[in-house]
Amino acid sequence: MLSLIKFPRIFSINQVPKVFHEDSIISGYRHPRSSATDCILSLFQMTNETLNIWTHFLPTWYFLWKLVTVVLMQQGWQDSFTWPLLVFLSSCCIYPLASSCAHTFSTMSLRARHICFFFDYGALSLYSLGSAIVYSFYAFPDKWLNSSFHQWYIPIAVANTVICTVLACYSRLGFPFLQYNHDVVKRLPESPKFGKFLRILAFAYPYLFDNIPLFYRVFLCTGEGCTNNDTNILHYKHISLAFLTGFLFATHLPERLAPGSFDYIGHSHQLFHVCGILGTHFQMLAVEQDMVTRRPWLTVNSIPVSSANSMGPAVLCVVLNLIIILLFSLPLLSGPVCKESKHGKDKEKVATKGCSCY
Ligand SMILES: [Zn+2]
Repeated sequence: MLSLIKFPRIFSINQVPKVFHEDSIISGYRHPRSSATDCILSLFQMTNETLNIWTHFLPTWYFLWKLVTVVLMQQGWQDSFTWPLLVFLSSCCIYPLASSCAHTFSTMSLRARHICFFFDYGALSLYSLGSAIVYSFYAFPDKWLNSSFHQWYIPIAVANTVICTVLACYSRLGFPFLQYNHDVVKRLPESPKFGKFLRILAFAYPYLFDNIPLFYRVFLCTGEGCTNNDTNILHYKHISLAFLTGFLFATHLPERLAPGSFDYIGHSHQLFHVCGILGTHFQMLAVEQDMVTRRPWLTVNSIPVSSANSMGPAVLCVVLNLIIILLFSLPLLSGPVCKESKHGKDKEKVATKGCSCY
């Protein structure tokens, strides 16, 4: 059946515009102005993005299954104590889905590429808030419950999602209307390394903030009130995987050691996705275990869960992030459209010379 389908042509690094280049990836590039159909077809052929897409698309269904299980089987909606878990699981479904869509459709045009990854960053911000909400209600060490830090923890996490999304979106083209407009990009020639540094900062900062209570609980706390229980081993696992995920994203290993050898299988972005998902899996197991084992104590001693302190911040985060994404996308949406043909020889020519529209 698949042999009857005509798959789109694949290009090498010299045949696509520089802005589509991936560090130390030499081959397997899709056409920089692919149609939506070609993008979907590329899921079933080997390109340098294929495993990036599948490594987030399949886990989306796993986390959705977990979410549906909690909602339907455990009747999570009726039990306010499980609402933080529902918020967290929703964010665990959204971020891999947004990422797999971004990787699928990012080669429709340079404009589409930027907008796709704006959504990817917004979804990661939401996941960082989901983590903060679930930690606040289930994972905070006994000693820190109801402290000032605990009371300000979620409001600060909401503010962090705004900072994170703005910084990550800014890292691509600068500020909308100031540094890029529908036909002018003032900031594009700036070093891609600087953009990458800003993106690492944008996601490392909320991650480190969210994990302050956990780092304290599992690495620093001594004596009573440290919540030193069996769940700590699961927290160690997801913290280790989170650091490995960051390491892979920052270093571009292993492809940097042998450019061209990991173009299709085994490059850092695929490993980054896999480690990120495994980390989320262990994080989910840990917070579920904390939720169940600590419930009697938390119900009596901690801040009660309400829609205003669990779902409310998540909805606010979604609204704020959509506004930020819209602002960063607006100049791109109102810009001129490339008119090059997408078929036959013209298509190859576009790929070779690059596209001046974005
Ligand atoms: Zn990715």
